[in-house]
Amino acid sequence: MGIALSTAERVAPVVARPPSVATVCSHSSLQIFYGAKVEGFRTLGICAGSPPKYYDAFPLAKPDEFLSVPKLAQLGGEIERLKQANSVLIPHGSFVEYLGPEKFVQLDIPIFGNRAVIEWESDREKERVWLESAGVPMPKRYANPSEVDGPVIVKYYGAKGGKGFFLAKNRQALEGFQPTGPHVIQQYVLGTRYYIHFFYSPLSDTGYRVGSGSLELLGMDRRDEANIDELYKLGGHEELLRAGIRPTFVVTGNVPVVLRESLLPKVFDAGARIIERSIELFGGMVGPFCVEGIMTEELEFKVFEISTRIVAGTNVYVHGSPYSDLVAPDLSMGRRIALELKRARAEDRLREVLS
Ligand code: AMP
Repeated sequence: MGIALSTAERVAPVVARPPSVATVCSHSSLQIFYGAKVEGFRTLGICAGSPPKYYDAFPLAKPDEFLSVPKLAQLGGEIERLKQANSVLIPHGSFVEYLGPEKFVQLDIPIFGNRAVIEWESDREKERVWLESAGVPMPKRYANPSEVDGPVIVKYYGAKGGKGFFLAKNRQALEGFQPTGPHVIQQYVLGTRYYIHFFYSPLSDTGYRVGSGSLELLGMDRRDEANIDELYKLGGHEELLRAGIRPTFVVTGNVPVVLRESLLPKVFDAGARIIERSIELFGGMVGPFCVEGIMTEELEFKVFEISTRIVAGTNVYVHGSPYSDLVAPDLSMGRRIALELKRARAEDRLREVLS
């Protein structure tokens, strides 16, 4: 196993005949399949074990066929079946996580977007180099607890859903802190969270130009995170800690939001810088990505994280958002991916959007 083909070889079957849009049945897959079907693609749902029963409840989003594997981590052994279906894989957070980033980039099947980005996103250190060198404002980072001059969030690498993240109001609250693994001590930014859904099209020559393509803002959401989002009902932070209750940041859902119009230039600026730097660092990021940040009371947008693929927050806009409605009607992120694929095939530019 492993990568044997060049991008041109991998993409050739998709040039020859229309592909199936394939992804793992989870995360944003209902939206991805629905958008692909609306644009006339065949769809392939990859699942561990039997196809999920809840798909029967959503006939417009149910894929045309399923590929069941015993475990998603073993998908690398199903390359032939993916090839038979002439698949293009649409990465999403769960797809990459279940398979593991190393295995994901080794799949010899066309992936929508630049697979090089996965290496830059899955390593928090590399991600920081990317964002900082792009000139994007980020939360301060402290090399050790003695430097801390305000509230902090301690993030352990690989902590799923922020489980094990640790909040401290000030330096004193960090006294006696004994890290249990690789971590970063980051400024806890006070403000309001926004998760901005962008799409970068290298094919487009109209709209908000960045590099040789265009940056589209298709929506924004806020994540519902358990238990932090409702914790205030139980009392103050110190009280909770004394009671042995720790905040966690496990995403349980998403809600739609819009930003004050006068703040839009700030998020566009962050999105554009991230794209421009990605072009210099690894040949560019293509398609959906999400800039995750906090708008402070000084109206500064501090970016604490990016996701370099479709995020589940886009699920709140299956029929478009207050932003995508101003780009085209009924434009979900899932449908936007399908449209880009369609255009790239029609213009013989698939190699610019697949890897
Ligand atoms: P992350 O794993 O970096 O996406 O962080 C998980 C959650 O922790 C975010 O969705 C925010 O609610 C919160 N968070 C992360 N970083 C910060 C920060 N620097 N300041 C305030 N809240 C943060």
